Amino acid sequence: MRPCPFCENTSGNTERYRKSVDGSVLIGLKTDASMIRCRACRSLYLNYVPSCDELRELYGERFRYPDAPTQATLNSYKAVLRGMARHACSESRRLLEVGCAGGNWLQAADALGWECEGNDLNAEMLSQLHEKHGFPVHLGFFEDLDFPRPFDAVVAVNVFEHLNDPESFVAKVGEVLEPGGLFCMKTPLADTWAERWEGYRWPHLAELGHLLFGSRQAIVEMFSRHDLELVQFQSAGFPPSPRRVIQSRRGTTDASESSESVQTAEGVVSKGVPTRSWARRVLANSQYIKPLYFKLNRLLQWGDSSYWTFRRASIDPERSQQREFSNRAA
Ligand SMILES: [Zn+2]
Repeated sequence: MRPCPFCENTSGNTERYRKSVDGSVLIGLKTDASMIRCRACRSLYLNYVPSCDELRELYGERFRYPDAPTQATLNSYKAVLRGMARHACSESRRLLEVGCAGGNWLQAADALGWECEGNDLNAEMLSQLHEKHGFPVHLGFFEDLDFPRPFDAVVAVNVFEHLNDPESFVAKVGEVLEPGGLFCMKTPLADTWAERWEGYRWPHLAELGHLLFGSRQAIVEMFSRHDLELVQFQSAGFPPSPRRVIQSRRGTTDASESSESVQTAEGVVSKGVPTRSWARRVLANSQYIKPLYFKLNRLLQWGDSSYWTFRRASIDPERSQQREFSNRAA
């Protein structure tokens, strides 16, 4: 069994869900694979590491990218970016979005005065983004790219759960940030109420390309290994849905869902990707209810997803002075 990509634990990890070849469309990989629960840090990860070619094919051709944002959505992005910027150490404003797709977040950042650049695996989306908004774009895996200058902020929304190797991603984030620079991400979270109670009906398990879900503890520890200090955590997403909790206990699904099947470790065959109810969609898109819902979520921490802001450790002022002296002496 593959060691946990967050804490490298190997002992006592258990198979939680099995995705059969028939159900492979759910994670987008043409293979049989299991979702494993790490006993030590409670994260979930796929017992299979897809190749770069598999990922390129997935995100270049088959992945469905988000549509153009509504005003309510853009406003909520701006609120997150303003929250991040409160922790900035300098006035400079160079920002990179990893996995930028059509550039929805970059538009919000641009409106707030950031100098934006985008990175993605999808060449077509990047060239459209460059033509429409003029942002500099970088095609390829973030970890493999060389950036001529460091950034003051890096943003990665719904990217972390798609990573093959989170450790090298986090190391690269530390490498491309200025000292004191900020990293902001959104990712679904393992070991939340919804993930535990909804079982195999937890919608994130079945989404295309979702390879791992860190627990809160595992994510904080991984970033701190690379001198990225947590400055803000905010619960997002949804609390457990009573309907899905009951369905997962009974081993049933909604009849309206697609006919793809997924085999769980408990031997249950589910049908298709669980969908969000209309009430949840209204909640997610309403200009008036959404900010209220955000506040409630922050208070109760009941969501199955999360926004994080980390800051790269600044260079110790004493040490940087010493460096100046030694430079002058030389
Ligand atoms: Zn672990």
